[in-house]
Amino acid sequence: MTLVSGDQYSGAMTHSHPKQILSEVFGYDEFRGDQAVVIDHVCNGGDGVVVMPTGGGKSLCYQIPALLREGTGVVISPLIALMQDQVAALTQVGIRAGFWNSSQTMGERQIMEQAYLAGELDLLYIAPERLTTSYTQDLLDHGKIAVFAIDEAHCVSQWGHDFRPDYLMLNVLGERWPDVPRLALTATATEPTRAEITTRLGLDQARHFVSSFDRPNITYRIEPKVSAIKQLINFITSEHPSDCGIVYALSRKDTEDIAAQLSTAGIDALAYHAGMTSQQRLDFQTRFLSEEGVVMVATIAFGMGIDKPNVRFVAHVDIPKSIEGYYQETGRAGRDGEPATAWMVYGMGDVITHRRMITESAGDELHKNNLSRNLNAMLALCETVECRRVMILRYFGQESTPCGNCDTCFDSPSQWDGTTAAQKFLSTVVRLDAERHQKFGSTHIIDILRGSQTAKVQQWNHTTLSTWGIGAEFSARQWQTIVRQLLATGALEVAAHTTLKITDVGREILWKDRQVMLREDVHHKAGQVAKSRKAKSETVVQVMAEDQKLFEKLRTWRREVASTAGVPAYVVFPDRTLHETVAIKPTTLEQLATVHGVGAKKLTTYGQAVLDIVNS
Ligand code: ADP
Ligand code: ZN
Repeated sequence: MTLVSGDQYSGAMTHSHPKQILSEVFGYDEFRGDQAVVIDHVCNGGDGVVVMPTGGGKSLCYQIPALLREGTGVVISPLIALMQDQVAALTQVGIRAGFWNSSQTMGERQIMEQAYLAGELDLLYIAPERLTTSYTQDLLDHGKIAVFAIDEAHCVSQWGHDFRPDYLMLNVLGERWPDVPRLALTATATEPTRAEITTRLGLDQARHFVSSFDRPNITYRIEPKVSAIKQLINFITSEHPSDCGIVYALSRKDTEDIAAQLSTAGIDALAYHAGMTSQQRLDFQTRFLSEEGVVMVATIAFGMGIDKPNVRFVAHVDIPKSIEGYYQETGRAGRDGEPATAWMVYGMGDVITHRRMITESAGDELHKNNLSRNLNAMLALCETVECRRVMILRYFGQESTPCGNCDTCFDSPSQWDGTTAAQKFLSTVVRLDAERHQKFGSTHIIDILRGSQTAKVQQWNHTTLSTWGIGAEFSARQWQTIVRQLLATGALEVAAHTTLKITDVGREILWKDRQVMLREDVHHKAGQVAKSRKAKSETVVQVMAEDQKLFEKLRTWRREVASTAGVPAYVVFPDRTLHETVAIKPTTLEQLATVHGVGAKKLTTYGQAVLDIVNS
């Protein structure tokens, strides 16, 4: 329930210092990254633009000033579906929070409005479209506003994929309430987006806080696609059994097929896409958030604002359209700072599909060029023999050194001179192109090179081509790898009906001996990574069997408490709190209070129950 009842709260909190709130209310020891400076700046009335990666801890940047400054912190958030969870999480730590949005009944909204006017709210979440009405603006005028937080501020960017027209109206905040500090927050980093946020929201005077974009706890892996579904099942069952994760696929139908196949393999999987009814989507989202070990197989319709902290992996079975998209999606893994995996399979078919989608997309040349540039950067990331993280961070304008926590660092792929192979393939493309009336796709060209006598080869009399049989030294799969890289580097382009055409780059390779270095794909054998992990975890489990039992007991207790309260389990306590409790085995409330995530309110509410379990 979102309503704040009077007896639950003894009144406004009396804290004088950010650090005190951090430990007493939230139960955390230290500020992360820029949090402390941002909070200080806003408490002193300054405006700010905060760019922090997903999971970086943006919320505290406005929540703590809202508690310290007089009045209510007003948070503009585009995610109505999540306001309820955010308010529930705040209520759990004893903060007086509420929201105004279209999901409420008239009565519920009136109670919230009264609470705001009476100065009884620390934080108030509002949907952007509501804020643009004069009714809401007048109402806000009759109370006291401590700070405005504009969450997901990149929604103001008309070029971004999350554009919300209502965000364009938010410059009203600075015009109507010039004395209230405003904080715009986003995880989308590039310079142009940041500039757009600044101008469109009228934040010219704002100080910018741009954090490091690195997410060191995420391992990045991109593998060649052989059979996506088999590889996916193998990845999940061997490395993340019973973990919560997200699988991204391109089409609605794929999400359903994949979810069905994962379920058959014994994985608790659900499909999620924009074609489902909103009730279905809400049900599945609720299951994903509140249960443990659910795998959501989704289109990109799923995810913005999903702040479930213990998502242990994000898998892509289709390549995203840009590095920004990839980083935003993979960023939903491991927000709690514990190890997590970003895993992707990618193959020749992906490149062909995307290239064709761009060719056939509506929009002018400029738009198509933009799409191509984004895709090329993404493809370069897939084909790189460099550290993946170095390349991602460089894309966001941040230099770094090899990370030791990505596949190319683990197992650096070798390169080979593929110039001759490329020339064989390209010259076949040119020869077929000369036949004018008919175009051919990659499979047929590979058949020709390998000297196959398929029906199609015979039908077109292609055994007479001078390139027939000159590429038998490579298997069909090896040829696909070569073609994929020629497509990725732009030596080939995809024309109508997925036929291949040579480009200027291709012509340079063919006629001017331009050198082509190709990546030797590293194929991970099934269970290879998992085995080493298992060996480790088995010894750990033996030594700590007792701890494991205690952890399970705490987890069961947490599940019951959460379901009674109607909130997700992690809102009661995150995994890390349970792990630390098991490690420390506190016997007193004072000891328990030192554990991560245990603030004053939770200590009072749950402290004794936790101690009873530990001591039993
Ligand atoms: P963002 O909105 O930037 O994605 P959140 O504000 O949701 O991130 O924070 C991500 C997670 O990190 C949350 O579970 C939050 O409680 C936790 N967190 C934030 N700041 C700290 C901190 N200083 N110490 C420990 N945990 C923190
Ligand atoms: Zn690396």
